[in-house]
Amino acid sequence: MTPPPTLLVISLSLAFTSLCAAESPVFRAGAATSNITPPIGADPRIRTSRPPATHVHDELHARCLVLDDGQAKLALVVCDMRHISAEVAAGAKKIIEQMTGIPPQCVVISATHSHTTGGAKLEEREGEPYYDFSAYLTRRIAESVLRAHNQLEPAQIAWGTAEEPTQVFNRRWFLKPGSPPVYGAHDNVELVDTNPGYKGLLKPAGPVDPQITFISVRSPSGKPISLMASYGLHYVGGITDNTISADYFAMFADRVGELLGVDRHQDPPFVGLMANGTSGDVNNLERYSDEELAKRGPQPKKKYQPFEKAREVANLCAEKVLAAHQKLVWHDHVKLTSLQRTLTFERRYPTKEEVAWAESVKARRIKPMSTSRYSTYSTVLAFASPDMPPTIDVIVQTHRIGDLAVATMPFEVFAEIGLELKQRSPLKPLMNISIANGAHGYLPTPAQHKLGGYETWIGVNKVQLDASVKIVDALVEMLGELSKAKP
Ligand SMILES: [Zn+2]
Repeated sequence: MTPPPTLLVISLSLAFTSLCAAESPVFRAGAATSNITPPIGADPRIRTSRPPATHVHDELHARCLVLDDGQAKLALVVCDMRHISAEVAAGAKKIIEQMTGIPPQCVVISATHSHTTGGAKLEEREGEPYYDFSAYLTRRIAESVLRAHNQLEPAQIAWGTAEEPTQVFNRRWFLKPGSPPVYGAHDNVELVDTNPGYKGLLKPAGPVDPQITFISVRSPSGKPISLMASYGLHYVGGITDNTISADYFAMFADRVGELLGVDRHQDPPFVGLMANGTSGDVNNLERYSDEELAKRGPQPKKKYQPFEKAREVANLCAEKVLAAHQKLVWHDHVKLTSLQRTLTFERRYPTKEEVAWAESVKARRIKPMSTSRYSTYSTVLAFASPDMPPTIDVIVQTHRIGDLAVATMPFEVFAEIGLELKQRSPLKPLMNISIANGAHGYLPTPAQHKLGGYETWIGVNKVQLDASVKIVDALVEMLGELSKAKP
């Protein structure tokens, strides 16, 4: 049967419209922030800053950038939190999918790792204050995505890299021969010391990643919408006691907007974001080998006021990004693709020696070599317990934004792992985002496990010792798949 002429016209014009849309899809971006500051000095069980917090220096936020290529969307959320639990991230993603239709594999929820904010777990019973904060946080994260999604507008996108090598220091050191022994989690002697003193140092046990990777979006008329960066620095600190603050991450977010010439009254407001790159073994404390110290000669010692150092680091990073920003190539449209895998790891079990040591400490048969190690015996015994789940599910993601790639890992990832990913990724540049979609402790390499040091101890490290190898291989494979897709 031949359709009546009017119907034929309608269906033809519909086909024509969708063809046009496929040929020139509009790229859009939107950004928003949600306040996630916990209550001041409430119940000490609300693990906010060094508890209890008595003051808020700057509010904490979930900062979100949503990208839309006309077919796929990607939501990038960075929370001013020490950690983000897998439960909170999964809970937020459920709400995000209901509210915006963006599926979980296209949503990255990460924590900055600022140490003056607290983390969130859902271990506490419902109705307890801490649980209430987790529920609040989950909702507010989801709302940051909804609000960014509501504000999607036509946009141009660009990406780039900058270097800031002066603010990242590997914090794990080999000490000079003849130094006193370094005692590990169960009084074992270790080869490296985490955060040692400033003298008697031989060489760092690993590299740092000085690269700042960033994505910038602006309206076709040139109004900045958002800039998201990632840098491999643990946090800065130097903040007054009992104070809630987002650390340098938020100061960068603000400063980069200022340097881009953002109008403070623009609507919607510009949103800056700074994610944690791979910084598991990298901090901001200037440590040099004795040899290097001798070469440098006496240095003036600067006394920093509270927050001054964090601001200094934020400003330096923002200035480096701005310099690279001036050379960017802008795209009217890029394609977005995302891949996600769940890797199941055997959880870390203590060795027989570790258990024997922990039982002896518990029974007061021995005193640990250092009082700071006193608390580790209970962790060893907890991890030896059959009540602990035998495996840990870990979400890893890769995203492609034009020729830029993003890799996410739910750990405090060692710098050398991030560098290996950047080197092996077929898509360059690669932005690494740590403590993303969950937080399962430190992620050292098997070689670093052999050296020992705080980050390798059971408790702060929770997964099988070769997990990093499997994660890097999986991510490289996923990046390979993404690189084959048409740009
Ligand atoms: Zn840490």
